Amino acid sequence: MSIVLENLERLKEAAKLENISDEHMKVLQNPVQVSYAELSVNGKQLPAWRIIYNRALGPGKGGIRFHPEVSEDEVQSLAFWMSLKNSLADIPYGGAKGGVKFNPKESSPEEIEEISRAYARAFADKLGQDKDVPAPDVYTNGQIMAYILDEFEKIQGHHEPGMITGKPIELGGIALRGDSTAQGGYLVTKEMMKKFLIGKDSAKIAVQGYGNAGLFMAEKLAADGHLIVAASDSKGGVYNDQGLDVKALSAWKHSGNSVNDFPGGTKVSNAELLELPVNILVLAALENQITAENAERIMAPCIVELANGPINLEADRILANRKTIVVPDILANSGGVIVSYFEWAQNRTGQILDEEYLRDLLDKKMKSGWQRVVEKFEEKNGEITLRQAAYILAIKRILAAEKYRGRIK
Ligand code: GLU
Repeated sequence: MSIVLENLERLKEAAKLENISDEHMKVLQNPVQVSYAELSVNGKQLPAWRIIYNRALGPGKGGIRFHPEVSEDEVQSLAFWMSLKNSLADIPYGGAKGGVKFNPKESSPEEIEEISRAYARAFADKLGQDKDVPAPDVYTNGQIMAYILDEFEKIQGHHEPGMITGKPIELGGIALRGDSTAQGGYLVTKEMMKKFLIGKDSAKIAVQGYGNAGLFMAEKLAADGHLIVAASDSKGGVYNDQGLDVKALSAWKHSGNSVNDFPGGTKVSNAELLELPVNILVLAALENQITAENAERIMAPCIVELANGPINLEADRILANRKTIVVPDILANSGGVIVSYFEWAQNRTGQILDEEYLRDLLDKKMKSGWQRVVEKFEEKNGEITLRQAAYILAIKRILAAEKYRGRIK
């Protein structure tokens, strides 16, 4: 089943649990705007998308992904998850996502700059601080945001830093953005441990994906005395039941090596890492990592989805039957877009907000998201999943906005 169809199933399930009518759910069945272009760069034609799934709560918001596997199904699903994520986080955004299908690991820096600028040109009339606001996602970063901003501003003939977030600080970005996804994930993981892993002062944790989100998350959890026993990147992973030296592992990764070759443990594949005997599994790579094929073999009682969509629908059901606790992506990785919102708000008002204040605000927002999800979960006597609880809350807020706008009765 495509991810888009799986998401429609998830929507249906959530609507049924809360008796939301089909009539109301209709507005969430399709994206409101699908834009497609082919970027001509160095004689190649690269498929590119920008999709707004919903904008009842505000302008489109969500990252741009550069990856060889990008497809319309994927971008639309990511845009859908952004809509729910922004709604659950209580920030004034709809949901959107973009992507370009190519392999940035096989492209020169000059080519990546050209692709970023071509992207901005292709979608310039669709983007803007009050229309749709991109940010980094898989294999994109602050430099790429800077190229897109620069190209966009050249076309518009004026400065508009609020048209994109995750920018370098010199162009209106904020320091907090760098590790914000991990910080948000870390805060909810601590809350999850308090509720579902009582008394585990030193939990064993495996982290799939040692990029921006996974690396910072591992460092934060290790600093609290937890054992990061396994980690991986796209080439494979490393395992040490006594705990990896996380600082050394991060330094190893920063100097361009693969986690797979790290000398502090034995090699494991990405698939093997998922099935290790750990207390918590952090999924920080890509979609569809846990499926019906491996769900029965997952030993971790708790999973945190730092990536978007790492567990597919069938696996969700298997894990729910096994009472595995899954902190869903739309809550666990929302720290990134929450800090994007701080950046956007600062760009728009021209005010500079104190970093301590913003750190506190992120902390409060993550905890409040967690509490609201747990309350809904308990209201249903724990018979639904945390994902279903989060979906219900997110859907209801979007539908309330749609109702005020008169799109539904
Ligand atoms: N790409 C991130 C996500 O999936 C951040 C999006 C944003 O900041 O707009 O949530």
